[in-house]
Amino acid sequence: MITRCALCNTEFDARTSYGLCKNCWQRDRLREWDRLEAAKKHVRRSGVPIELTLVEWLSIISDFQGHCAYCLVQPYSVIEMVKPYKGLMRDNVVPICRACQVHKQNGFESAEERIEAYVESEPTIHLFEDEPEAWEVEA
Ligand SMILES: [Zn+2]
Ligand SMILES: [Zn+2]
Repeated sequence: MITRCALCNTEFDARTSYGLCKNCWQRDRLREWDRLEAAKKHVRRSGVPIELTLVEWLSIISDFQGHCAYCLVQPYSVIEMVKPYKGLMRDNVVPICRACQVHKQNGFESAEERIEAYVESEPTIHLFEDEPEAWEVEA
Protein backbone atom coordinates (compact mmCIF):
# COMPACT_ATOMS: atom_id res chain seq x y z
CA MET A 1 0.00 0.00 0.00
CA ILE A 2 1.40 3.40 -0.99
CA THR A 3 0.88 6.07 1.63
CA ARG A 4 2.28 9.49 2.52
CA CYS A 5 4.68 10.04 5.37
CA ALA A 6 3.09 12.20 8.09
CA LEU A 7 6.36 14.08 8.58
CA CYS A 8 8.16 14.60 5.26
CA ASN A 9 5.15 13.97 3.02
CA THR A 10 6.99 11.63 0.64
CA GLU A 11 5.19 8.56 -0.63
CA PHE A 12 6.34 5.20 0.58
CA ASP A 13 5.25 1.61 0.55
CA ALA A 14 3.62 1.03 3.92
CA ARG A 15 4.04 -2.66 4.39
CA THR A 16 3.31 -2.37 8.06
CA SER A 17 0.80 0.40 7.27
CA TYR A 18 2.26 3.05 9.53
CA GLY A 19 2.35 6.80 9.03
CA LEU A 20 6.10 7.37 8.92
CA CYS A 21 8.60 6.56 6.16
CA LYS A 22 11.85 4.75 6.85
CA ASN A 23 13.87 7.97 7.10
CA CYS A 24 11.51 9.57 9.59
CA TRP A 25 10.70 6.50 11.60
CA GLN A 26 11.48 6.73 15.31
CA ARG A 27 9.72 4.97 18.11
CA ASP A 28 8.91 8.22 19.94
CA ARG A 29 7.52 9.79 16.79
CA LEU A 30 5.42 6.78 15.96
CA ARG A 31 3.96 6.79 19.44
CA GLU A 32 3.00 10.46 19.02
CA TRP A 33 1.53 9.70 15.62
CA ASP A 34 -0.64 7.03 17.22
CA ARG A 35 -1.62 9.43 19.99
CA LEU A 36 -2.54 12.15 17.50
CA GLU A 37 -4.58 9.77 15.35
CA ALA A 38 -6.41 8.53 18.44
CA ALA A 39 -7.12 12.12 19.55
CA LYS A 40 -8.45 13.01 16.09
CA LYS A 41 -10.72 10.01 16.14
CA HIS A 42 -11.91 10.95 19.58
CA VAL A 43 -12.89 14.55 18.76
CA ARG A 44 -14.19 13.92 15.24
CA ARG A 45 -17.69 13.27 16.56
CA SER A 46 -17.84 16.66 18.27
CA GLY A 47 -17.37 18.46 14.96
CA VAL A 48 -14.60 20.84 16.11
CA PRO A 49 -11.75 21.83 13.75
CA ILE A 50 -8.96 19.27 13.32
CA GLU A 51 -5.86 20.56 11.57
CA LEU A 52 -3.01 19.69 13.92
CA THR A 53 -0.19 17.94 12.06
CA LEU A 54 2.37 15.56 13.50
CA VAL A 55 5.19 18.03 12.87
CA GLU A 56 3.36 20.73 14.82
CA TRP A 57 2.56 18.39 17.67
CA LEU A 58 6.16 17.12 17.93
CA SER A 59 7.34 20.71 18.02
CA ILE A 60 4.91 21.58 20.82
CA ILE A 61 6.01 18.62 22.94
CA SER A 62 9.60 19.59 22.33
CA ASP A 63 8.84 23.08 23.71
CA PHE A 64 7.92 21.41 26.99
CA GLN A 65 10.67 18.76 26.83
CA GLY A 66 8.03 16.06 26.90
CA HIS A 67 6.62 17.33 30.19
CA CYS A 68 3.14 18.39 31.15
CA ALA A 69 2.60 22.04 30.14
CA TYR A 70 0.76 22.78 33.39
CA CYS A 71 2.94 21.41 36.19
CA LEU A 72 6.11 21.26 34.02
CA VAL A 73 7.21 18.29 36.14
CA GLN A 74 5.35 15.12 35.20
CA PRO A 75 5.76 13.40 31.87
CA TYR A 76 2.69 14.23 29.81
CA SER A 77 0.16 11.66 28.74
CA VAL A 78 -2.70 13.43 26.96
CA ILE A 79 -3.19 16.05 24.24
CA GLU A 80 -5.10 18.84 25.96
CA MET A 81 -7.27 21.26 23.99
CA VAL A 82 -6.92 24.59 25.82
CA LYS A 83 -10.36 25.66 24.60
CA PRO A 84 -12.27 22.52 23.67
CA TYR A 85 -14.45 24.25 21.05
CA LYS A 86 -11.35 25.38 19.12
CA GLY A 87 -10.45 21.78 18.44
CA LEU A 88 -7.17 20.11 17.54
CA MET A 89 -5.37 23.15 16.18
CA ARG A 90 -1.77 24.17 16.51
CA ASP A 91 -2.70 27.24 18.54
CA ASN A 92 -4.94 25.33 20.92
CA VAL A 93 -3.12 22.25 22.17
CA VAL A 94 -0.57 21.47 24.87
CA PRO A 95 0.64 18.27 26.54
CA ILE A 96 -0.91 17.54 29.93
CA CYS A 97 -0.35 14.84 32.55
CA ARG A 98 -3.22 12.85 34.01
CA ALA A 99 -2.92 14.41 37.47
CA CYS A 100 -3.28 17.94 36.08
CA GLN A 101 -6.05 16.94 33.74
CA VAL A 102 -8.07 15.34 36.49
CA HIS A 103 -7.43 17.64 39.43
CA LYS A 104 -6.64 21.03 37.89
CA GLN A 105 -5.29 22.26 41.19
CA ASN A 106 -2.06 23.60 42.75
CA GLY A 107 -1.59 26.82 40.87
CA PHE A 108 -3.58 25.64 37.90
CA GLU A 109 -4.97 29.10 37.26
CA SER A 110 -1.58 30.73 36.87
CA ALA A 111 -0.52 27.81 34.68
CA GLU A 112 -3.58 28.41 32.54
CA GLU A 113 -2.57 32.03 31.99
CA ARG A 114 0.95 30.98 31.03
CA ILE A 115 -0.40 28.40 28.60
CA GLU A 116 -2.83 30.78 26.98
CA ALA A 117 0.09 33.09 26.36
CA TYR A 118 2.04 30.19 24.89
CA VAL A 119 -0.62 29.04 22.43
CA GLU A 120 -1.28 32.61 21.36
CA SER A 121 2.40 33.25 20.69
CA GLU A 122 2.39 31.07 17.55
CA PRO A 123 5.50 29.17 18.61
CA THR A 124 7.94 28.35 15.83
CA ILE A 125 8.27 24.85 14.45
CA HIS A 126 11.70 23.52 15.31
CA LEU A 127 11.35 19.81 15.12
CA PHE A 128 14.77 18.73 13.97
CA GLU A 129 16.95 21.00 16.07
CA ASP A 130 15.62 20.99 19.59
CA GLU A 131 14.09 17.59 19.77
CA PRO A 132 14.86 15.85 23.06
CA GLU A 133 16.80 12.61 22.83
CA ALA A 134 14.00 10.58 24.28
CA TRP A 135 10.71 11.67 25.70
CA GLU A 136 9.69 10.23 29.00
CA VAL A 137 6.08 9.69 28.28
CA GLU A 138 3.65 7.69 30.31
CA ALA A 139 2.36 4.63 28.54
ZN1 LIG B 1 9.24 10.75 6.08
ZN1 LIG C 1 0.90 18.08 35.08
